[in-house]
Amino acid sequence: MKIKAINGFKDILLDTVLRWQHIEQTARDIFERFGMREIRTPILEKTELFSRSIGEATDIVEKEMYTFTDKGITMRPEATASLLRAFIEHGLHVLQPVQRLYTIGPMFRHERPQKGRLRQFHQMDVEIIGAHEPQVDAELMAMGQMLMDALGLSVSLEINSLGCPDCRPGFRAHLIKYLEERKEDLCPDCRRRLTINPLRTLDCKNRGCKALVQDAPSILDALCNNCSEHFAAVEQTLNLLGVSYKKNRFMVRGLDYYTRTTFEFITDELGAQAAVGAGGRYDGLIRQLGGPDLPGIGFALGIERLVLLMTQQDNCKALKPSTDLFIAALGKEAAEYAAVLVHKCREHNLKTAMDYSGRSLKAQMKQAARTDSRYTLIIGDRELSEKKAILRNMQTQEQVTFPLGESIEKQAKKLPIIIQS
Ligand code: ATP
Ligand code: MG
Repeated sequence: MKIKAINGFKDILLDTVLRWQHIEQTARDIFERFGMREIRTPILEKTELFSRSIGEATDIVEKEMYTFTDKGITMRPEATASLLRAFIEHGLHVLQPVQRLYTIGPMFRHERPQKGRLRQFHQMDVEIIGAHEPQVDAELMAMGQMLMDALGLSVSLEINSLGCPDCRPGFRAHLIKYLEERKEDLCPDCRRRLTINPLRTLDCKNRGCKALVQDAPSILDALCNNCSEHFAAVEQTLNLLGVSYKKNRFMVRGLDYYTRTTFEFITDELGAQAAVGAGGRYDGLIRQLGGPDLPGIGFALGIERLVLLMTQQDNCKALKPSTDLFIAALGKEAAEYAAVLVHKCREHNLKTAMDYSGRSLKAQMKQAARTDSRYTLIIGDRELSEKKAILRNMQTQEQVTFPLGESIEKQAKKLPIIIQS
């Protein structure tokens, strides 16, 4: 019996890996332009870290975590909690009052696998810790938008504010009252969550709930002065930076730690999996986790969804494997010579390939085409004795004679100059 991968856990193969690498490299370049530094944290953490930060009454903690129940440890379902744990544990704020951090890696949630929704998925997560200014919120969103643009992806940015411990409880009570009066029309999930997590109702996917919340009180009207000034300044900065956005008063995040600004990068091209990235402020969380009283804001992008979108929006044509040079050798002596030349060319930064099977020239040229080689160098025993080979440009089909008189070392230096010019 063949053993297959577990449902919801996926291999990332060949050409798809090129997309992943492109996304990660582009992200690293852009993150670093914004002063972000990478940290890497373990996949396993104490379960308590997530229940205390994400919140007991969230879907993630209630039913999606992979927990080793006998050991009290959990495979991380998201990155912020781990990152903050490391930040606090190593006192990183002492090194720098404002820390800009990012991490890239796998996360685990026990969800129903479907397009863009896996049990092991991957996030690129960024956090700015120690800054409360609204400009930072806007800067982070602008960075996300810059990355989307660099990847050629068209997505839209939606923003909301979830208020703070001063104004949210009032809004929450107001909302509960509104929902209580219409309890019969809520879906069973929302009815159950009514008193523990009523805000979730605002972004419930159920049609009845959706219709019902259209006339619900708006959190944006309920913000305290400080939160409302903060939100206005975020909007103003986004406008200054030329970042387009839409306000969405129904946006609630599925993690309890958010305060004030929350945002999502969304698409309508991935069915129900609309968010490619999401995040927000979590002032108060670091203290709650036993750290200093510092504000923070961050967001995470789902790499699988970015890859899907890239493939769907047809942005990966340039991402193909290629070889600079294929050396086709005919005859035993030529093959020996070629093996050394291939090795030397690789030392000189050329992606070089050859075929050791001694097949016909035609078969080797086919192989060269299959590796998408830009050039082929053809060396036969006769060419070797006459100290010349044929260098063919595979695109233009042009051929020139390449002298083999000098040492292999010298030729290996010469080839990149011809090929890369
Ligand atoms: P969703 O609305 O899809 O459930 P979420 O609100 O649970 O997303 P976050 O916890 O904010 O998502 O994670 C940030 C990003 O990580 C999401 O925008 C998405 O791109 C990605 N993501 C989350 N869960 C999954 C998953 N199970 N499979 C693939 N990607 C995911
Ligand atoms: Mg989710």
